[in-house]
Amino acid sequence: MEDIEHIEKKVKLMDASGRRLDGRKSDELRPIRVEAGVLRRADGSAYMEWGGNRVLAAVYGPREAHPRHLQDPARALVQCRYNMAPFSVSDRKRPGPDRRSVEISKVISEAFSSVVFAEQFPRTSVDIFIEVLQADAGTRCAGLSAASVALADAGVPMRDLVASCASGKIEGVVCVDLNKDEDNFGDADCPMAIVPRTGEIVLLQMDGHLTYDEFQKAMDLSIGAAHRIYELQRDALRRRYSVTLEDILKESPPLPPPPPSEEPLPPIPPEDDFGPEGI
Ligand code: UDP
Repeated sequence: MEDIEHIEKKVKLMDASGRRLDGRKSDELRPIRVEAGVLRRADGSAYMEWGGNRVLAAVYGPREAHPRHLQDPARALVQCRYNMAPFSVSDRKRPGPDRRSVEISKVISEAFSSVVFAEQFPRTSVDIFIEVLQADAGTRCAGLSAASVALADAGVPMRDLVASCASGKIEGVVCVDLNKDEDNFGDADCPMAIVPRTGEIVLLQMDGHLTYDEFQKAMDLSIGAAHRIYELQRDALRRRYSVTLEDILKESPPLPPPPPSEEPLPPIPPEDDFGPEGI
């Protein structure tokens, strides 16, 4: 054990100029891409690439809650299942739920329970599925941010989207959005999620130790990052639902043919002509 601790301390995570192993500065996010509406069967879905993470989110509901004894006559249940695919990490990940995935599912359900207008859908369930296809640290934040887009894509009424990002400490420096090496060999990791419109914090966890000032710095970095992620989430939804004039023309029925041009009027008969019979 002592040997391992010795090895961990020797991993250099930042160079002299303050750049991290992947070349980022302390306040820089990894590249992020979000796509809404990627699955046909689900009511709503989203796919997110966040650095080395690849995450898929699908949403069903509000639909009748099963098993029935779980139904709440006053509100909808918001249930989440976070799962890491066995092939998502290079070490073998045992398939199926474990303590970690149960914990992550629970904190994500709770985060969404505070934004979904659950009281409008008694006895129902909103089911959120998060599948991590490739993991590189920060998967709960990526999963939560993708699920938020999937919920909006499903048309589930919410107070706002939820945007999530972690910050932590590596080599004594507070940094945003740790990757796997930084997460493994760093000093602390602090994932959080906010409702950007109100600033409310709906998820906050911490692994490791931060001083009060470091924690304040980490929160500032995460809140700034969450606002950038919020923009990417809204862009994904805009791309999915915005309609251009070209789309309208493509979908509208063809215009009816123009009316036939008017026939020339018959010549006016002379005044003394009262028709064939006369009067
Ligand atoms: N990880 C892994 N095997 C596991 C669980 C996690 O290799 O069984 C890796 C994975 O890359 C994950 C990272 O460890 O993203 C950090 O995990 P953590 O529990 O901190 O959650 P996350 O940062 O992904 O939300």
